[in-house]
Amino acid sequence: MKQLIVEMEEYAKENNIPIMQKDGIAFLMKYIKNNEIKNVLEIGSAIGYSAILMASSGADVKVTTIERDEVNYLECIKNVKKCNFESKVNVVFQDALEVNLAEGTQYDLIFIDAAKGQYQKFFEKFQYFLASNGVIITDNLKFHGYVGKSEEIESKNLKQLVKKIENYIEFLKNNEEFETKFYDVGDGISVSKKVSHEN
Ligand code: SAH
Ligand code: MG
Repeated sequence: MKQLIVEMEEYAKENNIPIMQKDGIAFLMKYIKNNEIKNVLEIGSAIGYSAILMASSGADVKVTTIERDEVNYLECIKNVKKCNFESKVNVVFQDALEVNLAEGTQYDLIFIDAAKGQYQKFFEKFQYFLASNGVIITDNLKFHGYVGKSEEIESKNLKQLVKKIENYIEFLKNNEEFETKFYDVGDGISVSKKVSHEN
């Protein structure tokens, strides 16, 4: 397992795959342990690095992870097999925005780590599959330090992308159905918890 993780880190580096930073994944694993998370949905598997590490956080943790890129998907499947996690990690080869989850499916944790420009769409689509005490965690909210500085960026594409992340942060802050905390960990992480309306 340890060897596989090191190999995945090397592969990611060589192939420019943006896997989670070390403190970011450590934060997620700790969160899973401390909150007795059992069912995880991940948007954006890449090569399975975060999916495998999340699944390894507890004996009964199960991860469903969605990936639209075929090369990454195949690499992910290969890695899941290598650590014998076929029963713990279910890899779905599809665009997350086109996935149809069975009605009533519920996750304790939904981890958004795919196309940065679509974060709000992912959030709006998958929020209905959150268990009552569940959370939505989002990665890369600092986007390498660009977030908050979109006006200074010259490249049009980059500027647009960073603006979308800035808008997503505003969307989270203004979303009254969820209470969101932001953490300066890894590339910036948010944890959004559904507000309960018991009274
Ligand atoms: N969570 C991984 C890293 C994911 S990188 C880890 O930390 O190990 C982001 C991945 O999301 C890429 O592989 C990309 O192909 C995928 N992706 C981007 N948009 C997507 C979409 N709409 N549906 C499914 N996968 C998507
Ligand atoms: Mg990420």
